[in-house]
Amino acid sequence: MNYDILIIGSGPAGMTAGIYAGRAALKTAIFEKQPGGQMGNTWSIENYPGTGLTITGPRLNDNMREQCIENGVDFVQEAVLDIKKKDDGTFDVITELDNTYNCGAVILATGADPRKLGVPGEEEYRGLGVSYCATCDANFFKNLKVICVGGGDTALEEAIYLTKFATEVYLVHRRDEFRGSKILRNRVLDNKKIKVIYDSVLEEITAGPDGLVNGALVKNVKTNEITKVDAEGVFIFVGHIPNTKMIADTDLFDLDKSGYVLVNKDMNAGTPGVYAAGDVIQKDIRQIITACADGCIAAINAATFLEEKN
Ligand code: NAP
Repeated sequence: MNYDILIIGSGPAGMTAGIYAGRAALKTAIFEKQPGGQMGNTWSIENYPGTGLTITGPRLNDNMREQCIENGVDFVQEAVLDIKKKDDGTFDVITELDNTYNCGAVILATGADPRKLGVPGEEEYRGLGVSYCATCDANFFKNLKVICVGGGDTALEEAIYLTKFATEVYLVHRRDEFRGSKILRNRVLDNKKIKVIYDSVLEEITAGPDGLVNGALVKNVKTNEITKVDAEGVFIFVGHIPNTKMIADTDLFDLDKSGYVLVNKDMNAGTPGVYAAGDVIQKDIRQIITACADGCIAAINAATFLEEKN
């Protein structure tokens, strides 16, 4: 199967790249593993211009997807396992179904996955009270107590969202100051249902005889005191790890030591015809709109690359 541009990842970066590539009359496909990426799991988006005061992540995802399809972009529901450069300068993208797709330029927009805490109970009780997605799972915790871990924008935003369901949200952060934005910090501190536990980390996630989470052992890092906090849910929002596993064995992409793709101002990732965009790249500001901007830049430069090559 031959394409001009193949985009790996269907979050806002990938879909924006798709819209621009499609509008440039380039035969384009997007490989989709988790529709909408992290955006698809976000309950309320308040800072994406032009969408009103709030829009849900799934709705914004549907709008972008529709716009891709209207511009002639194909969606392929296959996980990509490898990308190889051929002698003729084109690229083969190989998928889990053993299909090979060929293209003139490739854009990696695979985003990032939630980072794990690595504490006892976390793996064991995943889906039994441990979650990384409030939009997906908050509804299970109606009138129950939950623990939320982290101090970035995601943890603050999701702790607020969880108060719509839970009776109490214990927000555990390892320092005495949140990393997240001031507006969210203030909303958290003003919310009567959120009890902030500063300078603390989870030592262990515990469960009752029924195998369901019943709380966590929380250690104050200044006093070393350990307290049992009772809760039916533990939501973990401690950052992300870039999805670059499938390119680990290729030398087509420049990576930093954390696995993020290093790009130049054109979103070129180190090899002519190879681009990256969105949360998978090394950058300071990770927002839906910056992911979209990356996707746009990558697609326009990929189109120029193909034009100059032909
Ligand atoms: P983040 O900004 O990297 O924050 C991760 C948080 O987890 C930090 O508070 C960090 O603590 C804590 N943490 C990391 N490892 C930990 C561990 N092992 N144990 C305990 N705590 C740990 O990640 P994020 O909140 O997912 O945000 C990612 C990006 O998306 C950011 O650029 C953010 O601004 C953006 N975002 C924006 C919005 C919005 O604008 N509405 C919403 C969501 C996300 P320290 O602070 O001590 O390092």
